[in-house]
Parts: sequence; structure tokens; C-alpha cells
Amino acid sequence: MSMHNRIVGITATLPAEILFAAGVRPVDLNNLFITDSAPNNLVSRAEVHGFSHNICSWIKGIYSVVFAKDIKEVIAVTGGDCSNTIALSEVLHHAGINVTAFEYPQDKNRDRLIAQMEKLQKSLSVTWPETKAVWSRFKQIRNKLKRLDRLTWEKGKVTGYENHLFLVQSSDFNGDPDTFEKEIDSFLREAEAREPKSPDIKLGYLGVPPIFSGFYELIDSLGAGVVFNEVQRQFSMPFDCNNIVDQYLTYTYPYDINGRLRDIQAAIKERNIDGLIHYTQTFCYRQIYDIIIRKEINIPVLTLEGDRPGPVDSRITLRIETFIEMLRQRKYGDIF
Ligand code: SF4
Repeated sequence: MSMHNRIVGITATLPAEILFAAGVRPVDLNNLFITDSAPNNLVSRAEVHGFSHNICSWIKGIYSVVFAKDIKEVIAVTGGDCSNTIALSEVLHHAGINVTAFEYPQDKNRDRLIAQMEKLQKSLSVTWPETKAVWSRFKQIRNKLKRLDRLTWEKGKVTGYENHLFLVQSSDFNGDPDTFEKEIDSFLREAEAREPKSPDIKLGYLGVPPIFSGFYELIDSLGAGVVFNEVQRQFSMPFDCNNIVDQYLTYTYPYDINGRLRDIQAAIKERNIDGLIHYTQTFCYRQIYDIIIRKEINIPVLTLEGDRPGPVDSRITLRIETFIEMLRQRKYGDIF
């Protein structure tokens, strides 16, 4: 197998620059799972293999997709993402998959992050200058994603779903940065030529990407729009950092909630957001953060919970409709 065909599954966003510098093609297992033609079957398959019902569907989906897509190597993010990934990585290892770990330091310690990056570089025979060269190249792509994000909230030319779709792919640059960049370029050309649309209710989406489908389309159909996808935007790392280490320290997702809160609060102000939808995953420890988010954020928050892949159900649809109506009343009074 040539180096270029060497595919490595990743369980979460990590310094992909190092993988590309090694000529390795990272594949975000979350995206592979959720874009599968039958993601629910992947969850069920993991249950047949012994994963209990009270384990999050993403973990089960990631597990099954490794075998379904014949992935032989996985880098598991065992620190800063999800404690379930630790046991998952051991299960994969016992099933014959070549697993290595990457850990974001919980305390955001710079030296420990550098040590983790160097460990990854060493395992792939990559040097700092090689990593830095890819980092500079990727800055250009990240800047284009930043433009795409701006076109969403500032100009109303990109829908919340399109925003989600492009930003969520920046964890692995869809396995092929050059092609990904061309797709962004042609999308930007098309979007820039559109008539601007400004939804009367502007929403922010917090939390891991939704497991259900039809969510953004539902919001659009109600005349509202998502103008901020918190975690997906973080994946795209639209920060003005002078080096790659700072970039992965600025990335909020792996660290404590305070960085996330600052990022969310800045977005509310910048984007004139009327309300937030906090998505939580059933059986995920991150649900607990809802307590702090509700306490610290002073605009209305709707907390939704998703379990298995599939279309948004009628109960969630009703809750979203009611929330948007409430925001309209709050913003415009009784004119609606
Ligand atoms: S949703 Fe929560 S429990 Fe599931 S993989 Fe992500 S962090 Fe872990």
C-alpha cells in the first residue's frame, strides 16, 4: 500500500496536519458513520456485538463503521473528547485494529500538548517543519471556511445546513484537502451570487452535531435560520493563531466549558442571535454542561436530546416550533 492510500480513522478532531504531512489520509469516523446509507443498522450491529443500550450511538456507530469500511488503523482521541473512547479503543485493539491514542491535555497545558503532537509525529515519521508546511497550506482553506461562515450570519447567503455541512468536514478535510478546497471555492462562488435572505429569528446551535436528519431544513421551513454552529465552527478552527500549537489550544471543544462559553457569548453578540438550541446526545456526559450553559447564557435556550440516527421526530418538531414561536413573540410582540 502506498503511503497515500494509507487510511487512518480518527474518532474526533485532532491535528490532522500531522497526518497529511505523513501522506496519510485521515477519515473522521463520525462523518463516515452518519453519512452511511443506513447508520441505524451500524448502531444495531454494535449492540449485537455486546455494546449495551445505554452507550451513546456515536460510539456504537464509530465501532461498526470501522469494520464495515474495513479500516485497519485508528487514532483514538482518548483525552479531551469522551471517556467512552478509551474503552472503545481497547475493544478495537482486541479486535485486531491498530489503535494509537491522542490526548488533549485537560488542563490546556502547552508543553503536554506539544508532547502529544510530537508523539503523533514520531509514530508517523513526520518532522515539525513538515507539519508546519501543511499547517500554512491549510490556513488558506480554513480562511475560506471562515468566509463561508461569514456569508451565513452576516450576509444570509449560506443556510445553516450548508454551514454545518462544510464546517463539519474540516475535521479531516474530507480526506483530500485539494478537492475539498475546490468544492469550497465553487460553493463560495455560487453562494456569493445569491440574493441575501435574513431569517426573522436567528438561532445558534450548540453541542455535538445532531444525530438526527432534517433538523436544519425544519428550522428553515419555520422561517428561522441557524447562523452559528458552535462545535462545527470550532472544527474549522477559524482562529488567527501564529502557530499550530496555539491553534489547538484555542480550539475550545477538548477543554473546559469556559472557553466554549466565551466563544458562544461572542457569537451571540456578533451575530444578533435570538435563541440557542443546545443539542445533547442521550447517554453523553456532556449533557451535564447544560446546567452551566443555562446559568451563564442570558438568552433563551432550548435543550434537545437525540438518541439514534433518523429523521427528527414529531415531539422534537413540536418543541422547535414552540420555541421559535416564543422567540417571535419575545422579539416582535403580538404582530404575528
Ligand atoms: S456524544 Fe458524548 S458520549 Fe457520545 S461519543 Fe460524543 S462525547 Fe462521547
